[in-house]
Amino acid sequence: MVAIVRHTISFTAPLLACRRASGFRSSSFASAFLCFRSPHTALSTPTSSTTCRRSWSYRAGGDDAGGSFEVVQFPCLADNYGYLIHDQTTGETAAIDTPCAASYRRELDKRGWKLTLILNTHKHHDHVGGNLELKTEGVTVYGPACDGNIPGMDVSLKEEDVVRFGNTNAKVIDVGGHTIGHIAFYFPAEKTAFVGDSLFSLGCGRMFEGSKQQFWSSLQKLRNLPDDTLLYCAHEYTESNAKFAMSVEPGNVDLMKRVETIKARRARGEPTVPSMVGDEKLTNPFLRGDLSAEIRKNVGASVSDSNADVFGKIRREKDNFSG
Ligand SMILES: [Zn+2]
Repeated sequence: MVAIVRHTISFTAPLLACRRASGFRSSSFASAFLCFRSPHTALSTPTSSTTCRRSWSYRAGGDDAGGSFEVVQFPCLADNYGYLIHDQTTGETAAIDTPCAASYRRELDKRGWKLTLILNTHKHHDHVGGNLELKTEGVTVYGPACDGNIPGMDVSLKEEDVVRFGNTNAKVIDVGGHTIGHIAFYFPAEKTAFVGDSLFSLGCGRMFEGSKQQFWSSLQKLRNLPDDTLLYCAHEYTESNAKFAMSVEPGNVDLMKRVETIKARRARGEPTVPSMVGDEKLTNPFLRGDLSAEIRKNVGASVSDSNADVFGKIRREKDNFSG
């Protein structure tokens, strides 16, 4: 049975210099971060902000529910998000991918946490580039079994494997398509999934290696997670994804509302990640090819097209979309 989980957010004070490439504005960040139909409650806001190197902290379970699972999110490289998860009971800390070792070290040092696990979603450099630098004594590196070289990998994972972390478990979901062996880490008790570059907020990863059948099958697995599951993807692409989504499904009222929320949040320099499965189902065109006649028409799908064919056409439209 899955425990009822309450998610809370706290804000940490911004650090040192503004990094322009992060995409985060350096303006004051005084308003609460509220998801579109969010389960989140903001615990606090920073008192001042003249910088943009920020991090956001989420706790699943809440203090009074005994929740001990904390997610820290921070910008890395140009538009990646780095994630650390921490189990307060056991003291274990895991990195979800390693776009930039320096950013991870900074966030670990800030909290006095010691890294124990690295959980890699796929082989791309902006996901494994910090592995070897962060793999000090006592750090175990987990990664996909069938995705090519994962630097320093100790344990290879496939669909339905389970990774023990602190007092909870992550289920491995095969979400190949962006790369052939891409995996996601799903924590059912925390209603949280780290999905790398498979599913983005209002988008999905480019289909570099997999087939449309494989990718569509992967996205259906994520779509079938409970509606209130938080999806942590690896990039802040939502605003540009929203333009494409509006171009193929302009009549979707839920999408229109969500786009307004996204614009407002980005204008305040806030992340649009995580999002929730329920919201993605209503608004993400890559999850809606079998649901929306408007999308099928706008990507030129015919009645004989399979759902995977329609997904392939949506993906191709997006690849050629100039916005
Ligand atoms: Zn990638």
